[in-house]
Amino acid sequence: MNDMTPIPVATARPAAGIGCLDAPVRKERGQHAVFCGLTGIIWMHRKIQDAFFLVVGSRTCAHLIQSAAGVMIFAEPRFATAIIDERDLAGLADVHDELDSVVAKLLARRPDIKLLFLVGSCPSEVIKLDLGKAASRLDKRFFPRVRVLNYSGSGIETTFTQGEDAALAALVPVLPAAPADAVASLLIVGALADVVEDQFLRLLNEMGIANVKALPPRRSTELPDVGPNTRYLLAQPFLTETARALDERGAERIAAPFPLGEQGTTEWLRAAAEAFGVAPAVFEAVTAAPAARASRAVARHLPVLSGKRVMFFPDSQLEIPLARFLANELGMGLAEVATPYLHRAHLAGDLALLPAGTPLSEGPDVDLQLDRCRAARPDLVVCGLGLANPLEAENITTKWSIELVFTPIQGYEQAGDLAELFARPFGRQSRLEV
Ligand code: SF4
Repeated sequence: MNDMTPIPVATARPAAGIGCLDAPVRKERGQHAVFCGLTGIIWMHRKIQDAFFLVVGSRTCAHLIQSAAGVMIFAEPRFATAIIDERDLAGLADVHDELDSVVAKLLARRPDIKLLFLVGSCPSEVIKLDLGKAASRLDKRFFPRVRVLNYSGSGIETTFTQGEDAALAALVPVLPAAPADAVASLLIVGALADVVEDQFLRLLNEMGIANVKALPPRRSTELPDVGPNTRYLLAQPFLTETARALDERGAERIAAPFPLGEQGTTEWLRAAAEAFGVAPAVFEAVTAAPAARASRAVARHLPVLSGKRVMFFPDSQLEIPLARFLANELGMGLAEVATPYLHRAHLAGDLALLPAGTPLSEGPDVDLQLDRCRAARPDLVVCGLGLANPLEAENITTKWSIELVFTPIQGYEQAGDLAELFARPFGRQSRLEV
């Protein structure tokens, strides 16, 4: 049964170090609004430059990927859909034979592909096509020229950021083993825009942390090694399965808030600095100037955002760190912060920094949350594409959460852009009112 307790609105500043760490979370069972995990291909195919994502799905899957990614006219695409048609569904064709033939043709034509992901979809799961078996058969045939892995990007009861988690989790077992006597290394985990990753690498290097690698790497031939001397720092809050797989390889997670805004970035870097024994004075010397720049860039948006109330619908799994940023750095009130899944351990740093009393919910029933939204009348709703238009029709200003995944928002130099993403809908509205 759903918990129907009315939700108060949080406006208090966070109590230092406590915030919402142990706060109760409203959990509902009912209709959830979710979006397809294939979406992750859009940003991951740009990140791993020699990878190819072959979706095994339907024409709907092909249309989703094509329309979300845009048509690449001059470049060779690095994703495609092998369409399961009526003959396959009727059992008139052997889907495994057809898939082998599609993969053989693709790899013969594209020698630049070094890593091939077979990506499962709703249709491949409905017909119970075993893509794990297919990937291992094809890997035996094509490795070492091409590594073949599989993961599910199915939109059945998943959120769209789970696609990245599933892809990275599939990579972890094939990461080389770090020797037992290897020097301690730091692994940044989660797909970041190259420009953001370069900024983080530079700051960490300036602190004296030299052995830093990233997962995913930019090329599949540069897979980072992993072992008991690996400490890893999650750059995205939706990497539950990847973190579990890294733990199984003996790596150790460094607990930290996520690097959104000045506060999140400073605390994220500080966690790495402390784990690697960087002196506080060195840390301050390296971060002081970019942190001050980030605060100034964020402050430019205070006149528009301060004092406004925001409500998050569950979608990207970035909701808790974003709410922490909006409340603490832009003075926004939090009407409700809903997330599809709340991983208390991974989000502990952000929860502790949230204002006490923030109404939190996990996987809320969409209809019940819409009722709460209409009652609360927040100034801004952050939600998925499907809810944005109906809410705008009710004169509720919205922000598409998917934009936050496609835009570089992590780190000091992007903090102002992140604030601007939330200020922009108000500018749009005032222009419409003129
Ligand atoms: S995987 Fe499922 S939700 Fe995603 S496009 Fe294909 S059919 Fe639709």
